[in-house]
Amino acid sequence: MSDLMYRSTRRADDVVTASRAVLNGLSADGGLYVPESIPQLPRTMGEFAKMDYRETAFEILKCFLTDYTDEELRHCVEGAYDAKFDDERIVPVTGTGDDYYLELYHGPTIAFKDMALSILPYLMTIAAKKQGIDREIVILTATSGDTGKAALAGFADVPGTKIIVFYPKDGVSPIQKLQMVTQKGANTCVIGVDGNFDDCQTGVKKMFTDAAMKEELAAAGCMFSSANSINIGRLVPQVVYYVYAYARLLSRGVIEEGEPINVTVPTGNFGNILAAYIAKKMGTPIDRLICASNENRVLTDFFESGVYDRNREFILTSSPSMDILISSNLERLIYWICGSSPERCMALMKELSETGKYTITDEMRAQLKDFEAGSAAEADVFKQIRTVFGMWEYLLDPHTAVASRVTDAYRDATGDMKPCVIASTASPYKFTRNVMYALTEAGGDEDDFDLANEMSRISGVPVPKAVTELRGAEIRHKSTCAVDEMPAKVREFLGI
Ligand SMILES: *Cc1c(COP(=O)(O)O)cnc(C)c1O
Repeated sequence: MSDLMYRSTRRADDVVTASRAVLNGLSADGGLYVPESIPQLPRTMGEFAKMDYRETAFEILKCFLTDYTDEELRHCVEGAYDAKFDDERIVPVTGTGDDYYLELYHGPTIAFKDMALSILPYLMTIAAKKQGIDREIVILTATSGDTGKAALAGFADVPGTKIIVFYPKDGVSPIQKLQMVTQKGANTCVIGVDGNFDDCQTGVKKMFTDAAMKEELAAAGCMFSSANSINIGRLVPQVVYYVYAYARLLSRGVIEEGEPINVTVPTGNFGNILAAYIAKKMGTPIDRLICASNENRVLTDFFESGVYDRNREFILTSSPSMDILISSNLERLIYWICGSSPERCMALMKELSETGKYTITDEMRAQLKDFEAGSAAEADVFKQIRTVFGMWEYLLDPHTAVASRVTDAYRDATGDMKPCVIASTASPYKFTRNVMYALTEAGGDEDDFDLANEMSRISGVPVPKAVTELRGAEIRHKSTCAVDEMPAKVREFLGI
């Protein structure tokens, strides 16, 4: 059987195998890699219902990463989804009425980024071997808070790699920041940028496409790759849990085989919901894909009007990992709905970078009918945390609460009561202050650790080790820089 190939969204002649796409991260023209076709599910849902997470992951990864051997994929899956997850199911699904929270936060850094970033280092080091690369891989990452720590945890002390993380200096939660600046590992570098997430992401993308810098790196025996969700090695592992979620509801008898469900995803860079879309295209019976935004509702407006317009105020919210105005992964969807034309996709992306805005055609809009979109205001997010805890004694973090709130609003507006899987993307303990504020309306002078203990007392959910181990941990990364100093910081760390 021939390999499934990957193409750049911006250039017709960049066609590569999966391992090459994982290694490159981004195409040299700034485009994202997309699979040439979407494979169909290799098993029935009845069969998936009998599988655990690791088996499901193996089956799904095998469909997309066709130039990896079965042994290699098993090695990746077993290395990634092991006891570093604090629940042996890896992804528990908790039901509250018609809502099913897909808890993607049981990994080492207690956010959903662990689902992909615990496997990416395995996929990447095997890819390097396959491609005969003996250069050091330098992972360049922009983070709105969660990717950075998950990537650091995944790549720390992995031989043959270095990792550099840029985060918005004042745009992450105190716990998120502590998690990153205390990161151990001789190959790690963490820098606070005087700017927002979009500045970090644009800065990183610029370095990826900077030909001169690429040569400097090559001369020093290094190459860049990416741990951001622009890397196909991030996207594919995320497809797994939507198939897994459906199979769990089936095995519990919540649904009959083939009966459709809805899925709501709290969205920032559009990676997680794109994975749900791919799961649907593979044949998972998902009806509505509900894209939930916080007050940075650029995607809500896009789905409602067909106009993507980032020219607006950037709002810092209680769900910082969704404080994003340029959703990178939307480019993959745009590519597909414009007839897989790199020229048309490129033209829209050029418009976005030059004017901050583009409008899609009616023909393209017609292909977005799988999606619903909604946004939640801050006051409603806090209220949702309180309401859900009051009704079900179930604690939501602010990101998940955005999705929960948007799901309720969708149900009220449409009367659609299908079971809904809500992607639960972070532990409430990652955003303790905001969650406690939502529960008790207290401001509180306590530090975040005391607040976490208090939250544990109220909720009965133990404080995760990922939080307790931060107390008193040594601060190892103090570096900050201006947006235009990012390349200099990279050169300094690499000694080039
Ligand atoms: C990254 C993140 C999101 C947004 O996911 P995207 O794939 O960027 O859309 C939502 N919630 C949390 C907690 C995250 O870390």
